[in-house]
Amino acid sequence: MQKLEGLYEWQEARLKKRKVEKKLKQLPEKYELENRKKNLEALEIELQQKRDRSGELSRELKRKEDAAARLENQRKDYEKKLYQGDTQSAKELEQLQKKVTQMQKEEARLEEEILEIMMHLDEAREEEEKKAAHFKQEREKDEEVKKEYRAEKEALEQEVKELEEEIEKLEQEVSEELRQRCHNLAQRTGLRGVVPVEGSSCGGCKVSLSAFVLEQVKGGEEIVTCENCFRMLFLPRQ
Ligand SMILES: [Zn+2]
Repeated sequence: MQKLEGLYEWQEARLKKRKVEKKLKQLPEKYELENRKKNLEALEIELQQKRDRSGELSRELKRKEDAAARLENQRKDYEKKLYQGDTQSAKELEQLQKKVTQMQKEEARLEEEILEIMMHLDEAREEEEKKAAHFKQEREKDEEVKKEYRAEKEALEQEVKELEEEIEKLEQEVSEELRQRCHNLAQRTGLRGVVPVEGSSCGGCKVSLSAFVLEQVKGGEEIVTCENCFRMLFLPRQ
């Protein structure tokens, strides 16, 4: 029966649409979008921490270098006084000499600290660079995955759209009554309310059809149902 073939196509298109929609819904999970996002966010935080550390060390270095420069200037002033040989008493000279020595010690100590900070800064910058490279790599990978995701999403959405058009077209060909009957049968028996005859068996429950039923289906005059599962039967075109 020609009508039932259209009904079958309508049923199949609806089943397919449901399947594609399910696939669409599971797509973000398939591409692990949520995990990727969390991973990238965590990496970005780690990178920021490394940057903060480098920044902190470089400010500390600057402070120490400024302090060392100030100290050096001060010491040079004292040394000038010391070697100018102006009207200073021996006691004053001795005090000045002491001060200069003390400052030299202080400068040496600062110099040590500066070297230490430079080493730490060097390490921190290296870690920062490594982290930045890793972050960049992961972000590029993420972009790639998102691109694939968007392409598949678009293709599936297109498929849904085409199926919707097909379903709409078929609904104009197949009566509401028949569709409702098919729907009710499907709810009772499983996915399908109308199935093709396969050889001489029901395409739904696979049970052999009686000669009488087969004849009726071939005749195509009325709607014939399987005696076992009650699904509507039609003879597929060869
Ligand atoms: Zn059957």
